[in-house]
Amino acid sequence: MECIFCRIAQRKQLAKIIYEDDLSVAFDDINPQAPVHTLIIPKKHISTNLDLREEDNVLIGHLFQVANKIARDKGIAERGFRLVMNCNPESGQTIFHMHLHIFGGRRMHWPPG
Ligand code: AMP
Ligand code: ZN
Repeated sequence: MECIFCRIAQRKQLAKIIYEDDLSVAFDDINPQAPVHTLIIPKKHISTNLDLREEDNVLIGHLFQVANKIARDKGIAERGFRLVMNCNPESGQTIFHMHLHIFGGRRMHWPPG
């Protein structure tokens, strides 16, 4: 079975896409853990951040620029927000297509669970 996030990027699987460009897609998480919970993915399939190559350096910077844009557009930039990227099972990663979570709109706790 093909990767679900590749399928979302290719629009073969429905998702609430809020942003798209040549390199990335952002969509709201199906099981939100905060008032704002959006995922940003590279269109290119990369399983985890451990699989990043030197040639992906521009791409990874771009994902952060997209995160900042979404945080500003959703009005959480000044209040504060959290970016999370899980890597491998013990972190809680369940979908092995690298993605950046943006959480905001409520007070975040620390240390994280
Ligand atoms: P992670 O645990 O870091 O791998 O995060 C995977 C995230 O993807 C979880 O927060 C899920 O709720 C979310 N998710 C799974 N399937 C979908 C989907 N079809 N559309 C949107 N979000 C999804
Ligand atoms: Zn994929």
